[in-house]
Amino acid sequence: MAKVKFCLVIDTETDFWRYIPSPHFGGNELIKWRINKLLPGKFSRGREGVSRIVKLLKSQRFPATFTIVGHLYLKECRGFPHFSEEPEGEWLNMMMKKRWDYWDPKLDFTTKPSFYMGDFIEREMRESYFDLGLHAFSHEALTLESKESVNSIIESAVRSAKSLGIKPVSFGAPFNMIEDVKEPEKVYSVLKKNGIKIVRFAGVENGLNQRHEVAIRKPFMKYGLKAVQVSHYFEGNSSKSLIRRILREMSLAVKLQNGEVYCLNTHDFTHRNISNLRVITDYALRLQKEDKIEIVNMSGLLR
Ligand SMILES: [Zn+2]
Ligand SMILES: [Zn+2]
Repeated sequence: MAKVKFCLVIDTETDFWRYIPSPHFGGNELIKWRINKLLPGKFSRGREGVSRIVKLLKSQRFPATFTIVGHLYLKECRGFPHFSEEPEGEWLNMMMKKRWDYWDPKLDFTTKPSFYMGDFIEREMRESYFDLGLHAFSHEALTLESKESVNSIIESAVRSAKSLGIKPVSFGAPFNMIEDVKEPEKVYSVLKKNGIKIVRFAGVENGLNQRHEVAIRKPFMKYGLKAVQVSHYFEGNSSKSLIRRILREMSLAVKLQNGEVYCLNTHDFTHRNISNLRVITDYALRLQKEDKIEIVNMSGLLR
Protein backbone atom coordinates (compact mmCIF):
# COMPACT_ATOMS: atom_id res chain seq x y z
CA MET A 1 0.00 0.00 0.00
CA ALA A 2 1.33 3.38 -1.02
CA LYS A 3 0.68 6.38 1.17
CA VAL A 4 -0.90 9.40 -0.47
CA LYS A 5 1.63 12.07 -1.35
CA PHE A 6 1.25 15.78 -0.73
CA CYS A 7 2.89 18.18 -3.19
CA LEU A 8 2.98 21.99 -2.91
CA VAL A 9 3.78 23.96 -6.08
CA ILE A 10 4.36 27.72 -5.98
CA ASP A 11 4.24 29.67 -9.23
CA THR A 12 6.92 32.25 -8.60
CA GLU A 13 6.58 35.36 -10.70
CA THR A 14 6.93 38.43 -8.39
CA ASP A 15 5.61 41.42 -10.37
CA PHE A 16 5.18 39.76 -13.76
CA TRP A 17 1.42 39.55 -13.18
CA ARG A 18 1.34 43.35 -13.09
CA TYR A 19 2.64 43.53 -16.65
CA ILE A 20 1.18 40.45 -18.32
CA PRO A 21 -2.58 39.89 -17.94
CA SER A 22 -4.23 36.56 -18.70
CA PRO A 23 -5.07 36.04 -22.39
CA HIS A 24 -8.48 34.88 -21.15
CA PHE A 25 -9.43 38.27 -19.72
CA GLY A 26 -12.46 39.97 -21.23
CA GLY A 27 -12.98 43.73 -21.06
CA ASN A 28 -14.29 43.78 -17.48
CA GLU A 29 -11.55 41.51 -16.18
CA LEU A 30 -8.95 43.69 -17.84
CA ILE A 31 -10.36 46.71 -16.02
CA LYS A 32 -10.37 44.80 -12.73
CA TRP A 33 -6.76 43.77 -13.33
CA ARG A 34 -5.74 47.40 -13.92
CA ILE A 35 -7.49 48.42 -10.69
CA ASN A 36 -5.92 45.56 -8.69
CA LYS A 37 -2.50 46.78 -9.77
CA LEU A 38 -3.20 50.20 -8.33
CA LEU A 39 -4.77 49.09 -5.05
CA PRO A 40 -2.09 49.16 -2.40
CA GLY A 41 -2.14 46.16 -0.13
CA LYS A 42 -4.19 43.77 -2.24
CA PHE A 43 -1.20 41.77 -3.49
CA SER A 44 2.40 41.68 -2.38
CA ARG A 45 5.02 43.79 -4.12
CA GLY A 46 8.14 42.42 -5.75
CA ARG A 47 9.84 39.77 -3.65
CA GLU A 48 7.63 40.15 -0.56
CA GLY A 49 5.43 37.13 -1.25
CA VAL A 50 8.20 34.73 -2.22
CA SER A 51 10.38 35.89 0.69
CA ARG A 52 7.61 35.15 3.19
CA ILE A 53 6.91 31.74 1.67
CA VAL A 54 10.60 30.77 1.61
CA LYS A 55 11.05 31.88 5.22
CA LEU A 56 8.09 29.81 6.46
CA LEU A 57 8.98 26.69 4.46
CA LYS A 58 12.61 26.85 5.58
CA SER A 59 11.58 27.12 9.21
CA GLN A 60 9.65 23.87 8.71
CA ARG A 61 12.09 22.24 6.25
CA PHE A 62 8.99 21.74 4.11
CA PRO A 63 9.55 20.15 0.66
CA ALA A 64 8.08 22.28 -2.15
CA THR A 65 8.45 23.03 -5.83
CA PHE A 66 8.92 26.61 -7.02
CA THR A 67 8.05 26.93 -10.69
CA ILE A 68 9.96 30.14 -11.39
CA VAL A 69 9.74 32.54 -14.35
CA GLY A 70 13.08 32.03 -16.17
CA HIS A 71 13.94 35.74 -16.25
CA LEU A 72 13.93 35.74 -12.45
CA TYR A 73 16.95 33.43 -12.35
CA LEU A 74 19.02 36.30 -13.78
CA LYS A 75 20.97 38.90 -11.81
CA GLU A 76 21.03 41.46 -14.62
CA CYS A 77 20.11 41.82 -18.28
CA ARG A 78 20.27 43.98 -21.36
CA GLY A 79 16.87 43.05 -22.73
CA PHE A 80 15.57 40.62 -25.33
CA PRO A 81 16.94 38.31 -26.50
CA HIS A 82 18.78 37.33 -23.30
CA PHE A 83 19.65 34.03 -24.91
CA SER A 84 17.74 32.92 -27.98
CA GLU A 85 14.16 33.59 -26.89
CA GLU A 86 11.69 35.04 -29.36
CA PRO A 87 8.22 35.11 -27.83
CA GLU A 88 5.57 36.20 -30.33
CA GLY A 89 3.04 37.39 -27.74
CA GLU A 90 0.54 38.31 -30.45
CA TRP A 91 -2.35 38.18 -28.00
CA LEU A 92 -0.65 40.75 -25.75
CA ASN A 93 -0.19 43.00 -28.73
CA MET A 94 -3.88 42.67 -29.64
CA MET A 95 -5.01 43.17 -26.06
CA MET A 96 -2.69 45.97 -24.91
CA LYS A 97 -0.97 47.23 -28.07
CA LYS A 98 2.37 46.41 -26.51
CA ARG A 99 5.42 44.46 -27.57
CA TRP A 100 6.02 41.32 -25.54
CA ASP A 101 9.14 42.70 -23.84
CA TYR A 102 7.75 46.14 -22.96
CA TRP A 103 8.19 45.46 -19.24
CA ASP A 104 11.91 44.57 -19.33
CA PRO A 105 13.85 47.21 -17.34
CA LYS A 106 17.26 46.11 -18.76
CA LEU A 107 18.82 46.67 -15.34
CA ASP A 108 19.99 44.47 -12.47
CA PHE A 109 18.90 43.06 -9.11
CA THR A 110 20.19 45.96 -7.07
CA THR A 111 17.98 48.50 -8.90
CA LYS A 112 15.01 46.26 -9.88
CA PRO A 113 14.98 43.31 -7.48
CA SER A 114 11.50 42.25 -8.60
CA PHE A 115 12.68 41.37 -12.13
CA TYR A 116 15.92 39.64 -11.13
CA MET A 117 16.09 37.18 -8.25
CA GLY A 118 19.36 35.42 -9.07
CA ASP A 119 20.95 36.70 -5.87
CA PHE A 120 17.95 35.65 -3.73
CA ILE A 121 17.65 32.20 -5.32
CA GLU A 122 21.37 31.62 -4.78
CA ARG A 123 21.36 32.83 -1.19
CA GLU A 124 17.96 31.67 0.11
CA MET A 125 16.51 28.92 -2.04
CA ARG A 126 19.21 26.31 -2.54
CA GLU A 127 17.84 23.91 0.05
CA SER A 128 17.87 20.19 -0.70
CA TYR A 129 14.10 19.93 -0.07
CA PHE A 130 13.32 22.76 -2.54
CA ASP A 131 12.79 21.80 -6.16
CA LEU A 132 13.57 24.81 -8.39
CA GLY A 133 11.63 24.49 -11.63
CA LEU A 134 10.45 26.70 -14.46
CA HIS A 135 7.37 28.75 -15.32
CA ALA A 136 8.38 29.62 -18.94
CA PHE A 137 10.86 32.49 -19.54
CA SER A 138 8.69 35.58 -19.07
CA HIS A 139 5.22 34.16 -18.37
CA GLU A 140 4.35 33.37 -21.96
CA ALA A 141 1.07 31.69 -22.92
CA LEU A 142 2.83 28.72 -24.50
CA THR A 143 -0.06 27.03 -26.31
CA LEU A 144 -0.64 30.31 -28.20
CA GLU A 145 2.98 30.40 -29.45
CA SER A 146 4.46 28.57 -32.46
CA LYS A 147 6.55 25.50 -31.78
CA GLU A 148 9.76 27.35 -32.75
CA SER A 149 8.90 30.14 -30.37
CA VAL A 150 8.08 27.70 -27.53
CA ASN A 151 11.45 26.08 -28.10
CA SER A 152 13.27 29.42 -27.97
CA ILE A 153 11.42 30.29 -24.74
CA ILE A 154 12.12 27.02 -22.93
CA GLU A 155 15.71 26.79 -24.09
CA SER A 156 16.33 30.31 -22.76
CA ALA A 157 14.59 29.61 -19.45
CA VAL A 158 16.83 26.56 -18.99
CA ARG A 159 19.93 28.64 -19.79
CA SER A 160 18.80 31.29 -17.35
CA ALA A 161 18.58 28.73 -14.52
CA LYS A 162 21.91 27.29 -15.64
CA SER A 163 23.54 30.67 -15.00
CA LEU A 164 23.08 29.79 -11.30
CA GLY A 165 24.17 26.19 -11.80
CA ILE A 166 20.58 24.92 -11.59
CA LYS A 167 19.20 22.26 -13.93
CA PRO A 168 15.39 22.33 -13.67
CA VAL A 169 13.38 19.13 -14.15
CA SER A 170 9.95 20.43 -13.05
CA PHE A 171 7.66 22.68 -15.03
CA GLY A 172 4.38 24.51 -14.46
CA ALA A 173 2.99 26.37 -17.48
CA PRO A 174 1.84 29.99 -17.08
CA PHE A 175 -1.99 30.09 -16.94
CA ASN A 176 -1.60 26.26 -16.87
CA MET A 177 -1.67 26.39 -20.69
CA ILE A 178 0.35 23.29 -21.53
CA GLU A 179 -1.74 21.35 -24.03
CA ASP A 180 -4.00 22.46 -26.87
CA VAL A 181 -6.36 19.99 -28.51
CA LYS A 182 -5.06 21.00 -31.95
CA GLU A 183 -1.39 20.29 -31.24
CA PRO A 184 -1.38 18.37 -27.95
CA GLU A 185 2.27 17.30 -28.00
CA LYS A 186 3.76 20.70 -28.96
CA VAL A 187 4.77 22.03 -25.53
CA TYR A 188 5.55 18.60 -24.04
CA SER A 189 7.97 17.66 -26.81
CA VAL A 190 9.89 20.92 -26.41
CA LEU A 191 10.03 20.50 -22.61
CA LYS A 192 11.30 16.96 -22.96
CA LYS A 193 13.99 18.03 -25.40
CA ASN A 194 15.17 20.64 -22.89
CA GLY A 195 15.57 18.28 -19.94
CA ILE A 196 12.22 18.74 -18.19
CA LYS A 197 10.97 15.47 -16.67
CA ILE A 198 7.75 16.32 -14.84
CA VAL A 199 4.96 18.82 -15.50
CA ARG A 200 1.93 20.13 -13.69
CA PHE A 201 -1.34 19.43 -15.48
CA ALA A 202 -4.70 21.16 -15.04
CA GLY A 203 -6.50 20.40 -18.28
CA VAL A 204 -6.47 21.23 -21.99
CA GLU A 205 -7.03 24.30 -24.13
CA ASN A 206 -8.88 24.81 -27.36
CA GLY A 207 -7.45 28.14 -28.44
CA LEU A 208 -8.71 30.47 -25.72
CA ASN A 209 -11.26 28.01 -24.31
CA GLN A 210 -10.03 26.12 -21.27
CA ARG A 211 -11.29 22.79 -20.08
CA HIS A 212 -9.59 22.67 -16.72
CA GLU A 213 -10.43 20.40 -13.83
CA VAL A 214 -9.01 19.40 -10.46
CA ALA A 215 -8.56 15.83 -9.24
CA ILE A 216 -6.61 13.67 -6.83
CA ARG A 217 -4.88 11.05 -8.95
CA LYS A 218 -1.71 9.10 -9.54
CA PRO A 219 0.97 10.77 -11.67
CA PHE A 220 0.46 9.80 -15.30
CA MET A 221 2.39 10.01 -18.55
CA LYS A 222 2.01 12.76 -21.16
CA TYR A 223 4.06 12.36 -24.34
CA GLY A 224 7.07 10.98 -22.52
CA LEU A 225 6.85 13.26 -19.47
CA LYS A 226 5.45 12.53 -16.06
CA ALA A 227 2.44 14.70 -15.18
CA VAL A 228 0.90 15.58 -11.85
CA GLN A 229 -2.70 16.76 -11.73
CA VAL A 230 -3.62 19.89 -9.76
CA SER A 231 -5.96 18.85 -6.92
CA HIS A 232 -6.80 22.33 -5.67
CA TYR A 233 -5.71 25.96 -5.89
CA PHE A 234 -5.41 28.37 -3.00
CA GLU A 235 -3.93 31.81 -2.50
CA GLY A 236 -2.55 33.88 0.35
CA ASN A 237 -5.78 35.89 0.20
CA SER A 238 -8.18 32.91 -0.16
CA SER A 239 -11.13 32.77 2.22
CA LYS A 240 -10.94 30.79 5.44
CA SER A 241 -13.75 28.55 4.16
CA LEU A 242 -11.69 27.55 1.11
CA ILE A 243 -8.75 26.68 3.35
CA ARG A 244 -11.06 24.59 5.56
CA ARG A 245 -12.33 22.77 2.46
CA ILE A 246 -8.74 21.96 1.47
CA LEU A 247 -7.95 20.59 4.94
CA ARG A 248 -11.06 18.44 4.75
CA GLU A 249 -10.01 17.10 1.34
CA MET A 250 -6.54 16.34 2.69
CA SER A 251 -8.02 14.45 5.63
CA LEU A 252 -10.16 12.37 3.25
CA ALA A 253 -7.31 11.81 0.78
CA VAL A 254 -5.29 9.86 3.40
CA LYS A 255 -7.57 6.89 2.69
CA LEU A 256 -6.28 6.61 -0.89
CA GLN A 257 -3.75 3.82 -1.32
CA ASN A 258 -2.78 3.66 -4.97
CA GLY A 259 -0.01 6.24 -5.16
CA GLU A 260 -2.31 9.25 -5.58
CA VAL A 261 -0.91 12.76 -5.17
CA TYR A 262 -2.70 15.69 -3.59
CA CYS A 263 -1.17 18.64 -5.47
CA LEU A 264 -1.81 22.18 -4.28
CA ASN A 265 -0.97 25.13 -6.51
CA THR A 266 -0.52 28.74 -5.43
CA HIS A 267 1.11 32.03 -6.55
CA ASP A 268 3.84 33.84 -4.65
CA PHE A 269 2.40 37.33 -5.13
CA THR A 270 -0.89 36.65 -3.30
CA HIS A 271 0.88 35.88 -0.02
CA ARG A 272 0.82 39.25 1.70
CA ASN A 273 -0.11 37.23 4.72
CA ILE A 274 1.37 33.83 5.40
CA SER A 275 -1.41 32.45 7.64
CA ASN A 276 -3.25 30.45 4.94
CA LEU A 277 -0.07 28.71 3.91
CA ARG A 278 0.91 28.09 7.52
CA VAL A 279 -2.46 26.45 8.30
CA ILE A 280 -1.95 24.09 5.36
CA THR A 281 1.72 23.25 6.01
CA ASP A 282 1.07 22.73 9.75
CA TYR A 283 -1.72 20.31 8.90
CA ALA A 284 0.36 18.46 6.30
CA LEU A 285 3.22 18.10 8.79
CA ARG A 286 0.79 16.73 11.37
CA LEU A 287 -0.57 14.16 8.90
CA GLN A 288 2.97 13.20 7.97
CA LYS A 289 3.93 12.80 11.62
CA GLU A 290 0.96 10.47 12.04
CA ASP A 291 2.40 8.51 9.11
CA LYS A 292 -0.67 9.20 6.95
CA ILE A 293 0.91 11.16 4.09
CA GLU A 294 4.31 11.76 2.56
CA ILE A 295 5.26 15.34 1.71
CA VAL A 296 7.23 15.50 -1.54
CA ASN A 297 8.13 18.01 -4.23
CA MET A 298 7.62 17.43 -7.96
CA SER A 299 11.14 16.14 -8.59
CA GLY A 300 10.57 13.70 -5.70
CA LEU A 301 7.71 12.18 -7.69
CA LEU A 302 10.23 11.01 -10.29
CA ARG A 303 11.74 8.50 -7.90
ZN1 LIG B 1 15.58 41.11 -19.18
ZN1 LIG C 1 1.91 32.28 -13.43
